[in-house]
Amino acid sequence: MPAVSTLDDAGFEARVPLIIVGAGAAGLCAALAAREAGVEPFVIERDASPSGSTALSAGLVPAAGTRFQRAKGISDSAELFAADIQRKSHGESDLALVETVAAGAGPLVEWLADRYGLPFDVIDNFNYPGHSALRMHGLPTRTGRELIDRLRSAAESQEITVLTRCLADRLFVTTDGRVAGIEAVRGNGVRERIGCDALILACNGYGGHPDLVRRFIPEMADALYFGHPGNRGDAVLWGEEIGASLASLGAYQGHGSVATPHNILITWAVIMQGGIQVNAEGLRFCNESRGYSEQAADVLVQPGGFAWEIFDERIAGVARQFEDFRDAERAGAIISADTIAELARAMHMPLQGLSAEWGEVEDLKSRAGLDRFGRRFAPDQKCVAPFLAVKVTGALFHTQGGLAVDKCARVRRKAGGSFPNLFAAGGAAAGVSGSSAAGYLSGNGLLTATVLGKLAGSTAALLAGSSRAGAHATEVPR
Ligand SMILES: Cc1cc2nc3c(=O)[nH]c(=O)nc-3n(C[C@H](O)[C@H](O)[C@H](O)COP(=O)(O)OP(=O)(O)OC[C@H]3O[C@@H](n4cnc5c(N)ncnc54)[C@H](O)[C@@H]3O)c2cc1C
Repeated sequence: MPAVSTLDDAGFEARVPLIIVGAGAAGLCAALAAREAGVEPFVIERDASPSGSTALSAGLVPAAGTRFQRAKGISDSAELFAADIQRKSHGESDLALVETVAAGAGPLVEWLADRYGLPFDVIDNFNYPGHSALRMHGLPTRTGRELIDRLRSAAESQEITVLTRCLADRLFVTTDGRVAGIEAVRGNGVRERIGCDALILACNGYGGHPDLVRRFIPEMADALYFGHPGNRGDAVLWGEEIGASLASLGAYQGHGSVATPHNILITWAVIMQGGIQVNAEGLRFCNESRGYSEQAADVLVQPGGFAWEIFDERIAGVARQFEDFRDAERAGAIISADTIAELARAMHMPLQGLSAEWGEVEDLKSRAGLDRFGRRFAPDQKCVAPFLAVKVTGALFHTQGGLAVDKCARVRRKAGGSFPNLFAAGGAAAGVSGSSAAGYLSGNGLLTATVLGKLAGSTAALLAGSSRAGAHATEVPR
């Protein structure tokens, strides 16, 4: 059966104003925004309960100019944030989209906090690479599980229908290029055709589809995929069939710090606070502070495909605000020793290389020096015994390429213009991370999930409303 078919509205068994495929951060933000605009969204989720990659994340949303920042005396602006995104993506991202998400993030975080009671605050004891202000907003547990659970509760409080154990399997488009509806498969195998005025694809990217990863991101073809397995590239596959414009398909969020063999994320705070990575020979191999995303491929090409991250108790104290780090400690992933020589023995590593690297780094820290890779160290990053280490590998977290969208989150056509009633948000949409792992600025994932989700929901709701009133889809403001 083809994934996309043409069909008239008459062929549907049910009709709703707005269908949202996927109940991650993007889908649920879209649903809340649509509901506020007076439209009843119909959310379809393949899993038994909403989780997605959102639940696997640290749940940190970057946002500029928020009251949480102001309360801590942090000065920031949407313009500064947009410039940071563009700098990290080497100017390769769509500027209008960058400006839209940078400007939308502050209001988004305050919207979720004020309207739906999500208790955000801003992390102020370390910064992520590439952000020129402290702007990572997180929930008390610093987990994506808390984020998705709170979004789900908000959706429940608004009586939003989330149909779980239901897979969107097929799109129907009319001959004039409007999306007419979908075919969904329930958990019991029953198929159902549902028509809609507007459709939002919030089903994330193709990290869970090994063939698509091999096709678009060959360097990660054999890497551990750390995201949600149910994100199988449906948006991209449908997009290819209906003539949508696809962009940035080689872009992704990698992470060069996943404890192995435990498969637990070790926060990049460990590096940003002064930790380093060495390979099995005890040698450093790059400027770790560029970012965790590009570090994934760099770790994977080291002998054995792993590295050791070395730090101290002070740094562990900062990292412990993350549940993942505490889990890693409980799992025995973090080892400790009183001297670098003992640590080298515990890591089964020759002491000579490690000892020289460690001595050089600690010396550079004392004099705020620049190393041979271009990393600048600072005196407050100095480490003292006991020393800690964790063995890590590189992983693919999520893909950043997808359906190109305009600044209303409407999917663009390859032939020019946009589909009148098809929207994409989050990992289903092409993000703002340029064309590779190196363009990913921390937080770009939830940034485009939440901000584009909200935008798609409110714009699609206008469309569903105007459609109900008998107007044409193309009357939605651009
Ligand atoms: C370990 C990890 C840590 C991360 N940390 C951060 C972070 O701190 N900050 C940040 O900004 N980003 C982070 N990210 C990235 C972030 O998680 C994602 O960018 C974000 O969650 C994407 O949200 P989404 O709603 O697009 O996708 P998801 O949350 O994955 O939701 C998509 C949903 O669609 C469903 N679905 C898929 N296909 C179908 C279909 N055909 N029919 C029905 N349902 C379908 C899936 O089951 C899923 O529930 C991290 C990712 C990982 C893996």
